[in-house]
Amino acid sequence: MRIGMVCRARLVRFSSFLCPFCTAPFLFGTESRILRRFPASPSVVKKADIAQFYSRLQAANPAPTTELGYATPFQLLVAVILSAQATDISVNKATKKLFAVAPTPETLLALGVEGLTEYIRAIGLYRTKAKNLIATCQLLLERHGGAVPATRAALEALPGVGRKTANVVLNTAFGQPTIAVDTHIFRVSNRTGLAPGKTVGEVEAKLLRVTPGEFRQNAHHWLILHGRYICKARQPECPRCPVADLCAWPDKTA
Ligand code: SF4
Repeated sequence: MRIGMVCRARLVRFSSFLCPFCTAPFLFGTESRILRRFPASPSVVKKADIAQFYSRLQAANPAPTTELGYATPFQLLVAVILSAQATDISVNKATKKLFAVAPTPETLLALGVEGLTEYIRAIGLYRTKAKNLIATCQLLLERHGGAVPATRAALEALPGVGRKTANVVLNTAFGQPTIAVDTHIFRVSNRTGLAPGKTVGEVEAKLLRVTPGEFRQNAHHWLILHGRYICKARQPECPRCPVADLCAWPDKTA
């Protein structure tokens, strides 16, 4: 059964959520429900092919990194919090002006919720994000001397910081081999058969298990960029995909 066809043909008129495979609107939103209806690729990438899979992504992009603009761990934390359900382009547009006047926890806190809101108004969920960022700045100053902590527990104790945000900061700011599973990585992992799972937690655990150590530090960025630019949700560009022969997706585009 072709997942994209089902979503577009049968569920579009009922729905308000997006399918992680094709981004067509979907009837129910949780990963587990989505995957119960539309299971991952039937076969998984063979263990022997996984190193090859990453080697090809590495050859295409030897030094991958985030597309969010930042100069310090604090600015990266702010940008990642703002990026939830928003594009990197919209976040970069906002933070370019924001970081010019408020590059540190002290200066951002001084803006207050109302002042900060003026800079991030174009970003989705900006009211909640503004409150969380101001509260996060307060906690960073009270508990960590204004520095961004380098542990998962301390990061996840900050308002607006969940496991995914913590993983991005730990990986990108502190060089830890974490893998933050966002919508692109969830889709690529299931579609290719690299690390199929019903939830982001399951996919993350599988990716950490199957990814060879030498590729773990950059796996997050290779997979996210592959999903963003080649293995796209609606129309994956299989003919120019460097891992097409290793991918288990049965409906590759011609
Ligand atoms: S072959 Fe197609 S479906 Fe498979 S990883 Fe490449 S772009 Fe994605």
